[in-house]
Amino acid sequence: MLRDNVQDSGYIYGKWQNFPDTWVLCYRGTLYCYLLVGEEKAMLIDTAYGEGDLRAMVESITDKPVMVCNTHGHFDHTGGNALWPEAWMSEEASKDAKNAFGPEMQKKFNEMPHPDYEIHYLHDGDVIDLGGRKVTVVSIGCHHKGSLAYIDDKSRCVYSGDELESGQVLLLRTDLNAKEQAALHKQNMEKLLSHEAEYDFVCPAHNGSPISKQYIRDFIALDAEIVAGTQKVMEDCAGYGFAPVHEMMGRKAERACHGGASAVYPVE
Ligand SMILES: [Zn+2]
Repeated sequence: MLRDNVQDSGYIYGKWQNFPDTWVLCYRGTLYCYLLVGEEKAMLIDTAYGEGDLRAMVESITDKPVMVCNTHGHFDHTGGNALWPEAWMSEEASKDAKNAFGPEMQKKFNEMPHPDYEIHYLHDGDVIDLGGRKVTVVSIGCHHKGSLAYIDDKSRCVYSGDELESGQVLLLRTDLNAKEQAALHKQNMEKLLSHEAEYDFVCPAHNGSPISKQYIRDFIALDAEIVAGTQKVMEDCAGYGFAPVHEMMGRKAERACHGGASAVYPVE
């Protein structure tokens, strides 16, 4: 079955262990899913696009029952859920989780083993018990309304999805302006910081992992600057995978940085 994950260009997924019983499953070098193995069950955090057979990769590591959980509802994090009959996420994430990026990807998703997989909701403050290992759910929706962070007491990491990472955080929601998004993001980062005693590192979904928790403080400072209008705007919008123009996803955008934190947000 693992052969499904091998193409002429190499393996679709790479894997490595970054903490005991804690695996990074890396999709094409750009996107991280995490497998946390407890004594009774395992938790898979995010599932990439659904390309190849992530389930075979997971089952090559553990034979424990796997609870599939998502950080948020963007399809690059939820597409592979359909390899399993059920998944856990926030209610807001569930509204987007089965919507692929474009018709071609949607067609492939619809042909996966469980495109109608059952969704269970997770809420702020929930604790997932994997057996000798507990994971606390913290709601931090901003990049996506339904984002959840997962704080794992064994690896002592917080799994932050797209809300906190070292490349950039995209604050490109259409229902809030830049200052509103920065204010909300700041509030969420302060909430994560209030849990600081529970983790030592941050494990994002893109662009490097693990990263220092100093990023949380840098983002709080950056968000405050965006709210105040005093942020340091970069000369162009270039960043990981983005062109050096002030346009992103069809919108006029700016990039600003503070310390390690970098955010891209719309300009009205
Ligand atoms: Zn996202």
